[in-house]
Amino acid sequence: MSITHPQTYPHPDYEAAHQQTYERAPRHPITPIPLPPGVGQTDFDSAISEFISIAGEESVFVKEGLSDYIDPYDVHEHDPSQRKLPSAAVCPDSTDQLSSVLRVANKYKIPLWHFSRGKNLGYGGPAPRVNGSVALDLHKLDKIIEVNDEYHYAVVEPGVTFIQLYEYCVEHKKKVWPSTPSLGWGSVIGNTVDRGMGFGMNYTHHQCVAGIEVMLPDGDVVRTGQWGISSSPSAFLSKFTFGPSLEGLFFQSNLGVVTKMSLWLTPQPQAYMCCSFSMPLFTDLEVMVDVFGEMKRNGTVQSCVWFTSLIETLCIMGRREDYWTGEGPVPDWRLEELRQETGFGHWYARWGLYGPKRIVEAQFEEIKSVLARRAPTGTIAGNLYAHPEEDGRLDATTVPDQDGQMFVGIPSLWSLPLINWPISKGKKDGKAAHGDYAPVIPSNGKLLMEWMEVSKPICEANGVELMADFFMHERHVVLMNMFTWDQTDKTQKEKMERLYYGLYEEAKKRGYGMYRGHVNHMDLIANLNDFNNHAYNRFVEKIKVSL
Ligand SMILES: Cc1cc2nc3c(=O)[nH]c(=O)nc-3n(C[C@H](O)[C@H](O)[C@H](O)COP(=O)(O)OP(=O)(O)OC[C@H]3O[C@@H](n4cnc5c(N)ncnc54)[C@H](O)[C@@H]3O)c2cc1C
Repeated sequence: MSITHPQTYPHPDYEAAHQQTYERAPRHPITPIPLPPGVGQTDFDSAISEFISIAGEESVFVKEGLSDYIDPYDVHEHDPSQRKLPSAAVCPDSTDQLSSVLRVANKYKIPLWHFSRGKNLGYGGPAPRVNGSVALDLHKLDKIIEVNDEYHYAVVEPGVTFIQLYEYCVEHKKKVWPSTPSLGWGSVIGNTVDRGMGFGMNYTHHQCVAGIEVMLPDGDVVRTGQWGISSSPSAFLSKFTFGPSLEGLFFQSNLGVVTKMSLWLTPQPQAYMCCSFSMPLFTDLEVMVDVFGEMKRNGTVQSCVWFTSLIETLCIMGRREDYWTGEGPVPDWRLEELRQETGFGHWYARWGLYGPKRIVEAQFEEIKSVLARRAPTGTIAGNLYAHPEEDGRLDATTVPDQDGQMFVGIPSLWSLPLINWPISKGKKDGKAAHGDYAPVIPSNGKLLMEWMEVSKPICEANGVELMADFFMHERHVVLMNMFTWDQTDKTQKEKMERLYYGLYEEAKKRGYGMYRGHVNHMDLIANLNDFNNHAYNRFVEKIKVSL
């Protein structure tokens, strides 16, 4: 069995970013490695031998080999009693191997924690919810089954990353713009089943899924929707199912392993416009949210509208010390100076317009006119890129990075530097980490403003600025209260925990649930489902037990 982790990214810069994330993490040795709960050493050793005979020595990891299967941002890494560690890891490279791994896990009653690329950073990465689980790493199942540019969808296996899918489309001249999150190293399936989001037209990834293939814990394989019919020509075209829709059972769940998934993609448009709108005051958020909310609901803006606070806009470009050298978080007066120096608004919204050039231009005119009436102190910008011929298709690479990248479906590692915000350049042994509190809030200006006013002092009391962004949907927003810290500083880690719980209490009072959560907080978040004595949780547990 292996103790060194293999290179998993063919791209040198992606592999380097992976190595950098895990280098010097852990600073605390990952021993003692826990056994799976209720499993003795003899059974565990037998299971490992069987995993090796299925997947090969080079695909089974134990002891020091588990150093890439931890949460590199774990706030509890100094505390073995709270740390989340797997007992072993196994990487099957085919569905046959996968079903054999499941059979062995069933035989020895070993819990599995499965993931596709394990880049769920901020939510635990590849670290398991239950200590001592075996990490089931699916990155070797990495085939792109199909990219269809007549109906605009892709069918992929779990290990396929956003950058891999993008490069495949470019190489095969597919007339699609796949959506991507701000980091291209994650798995299309992993991100989608965890309800991740991108920035363009099909940005709510889990809502772009038509058919999936799942391996159930007993090894049975199910295909959902029209794909349940072996010869269906609509397998990836329709969400209509005769009977209950099953896809949702496998989002943020451990009810089965998704082995293939379809995802709708954006047709390569003739034109794209990079748009932004900013407003100067902290309190301007209220009007911005209400106006854009209406334009989302009436269809004037169809893509994601991504809002950032001033600190979040700045942290992509520098570190705290570049803007503020005093103690503690950047004070409001300095923030106001920075706003004037940089010309950024206190709130900054970005979105894209996609489609035929005449329609894009008309949409922009309408948006300009609405904003001029309703939010006249704001500043709007729109840069148009279009293929000169009506039937032509715009090449995304012709859009300069500052206007394009994830908005035109080009994956990158663009947002990774933001986590360096609190690390002084002089502190060579500092190690950046980040987390977020991500409530689902109605798309309502007053409520968003109230949340900012409530969360700002909680952030500041714990030594960080209000760093917020949100993805606007038609009727709600998914908000990220981001926080970054130095992983080598125990006091900062303790403050981040306090900050999280402070936000949790405020969200709970308002009935705000979370769109996604860290393995350390999953039970806490699930417990918010309190209706009828936690009927939702009881129902999910019933399904789990029966599977
Ligand atoms: C700086 C920064 C920026 C980020 N920006 C974004 C962003 O713009 N948008 C966004 O959505 N996220 C963002 N993230 C969060 C995260 O990095 C991405 O969502 C990432 O894509 C998730 O990792 P992954 O794709 O490797 O998923 P994985 O870690 O492989 O999977 C995530 C979870 O999904 C489940 N799962 C995975 N595979 C399967 C399967 N085959 N079957 C069943 N269940 C499965 C498991 O519960 C797993 O824990 C960001 C993180 C950082 C640090």
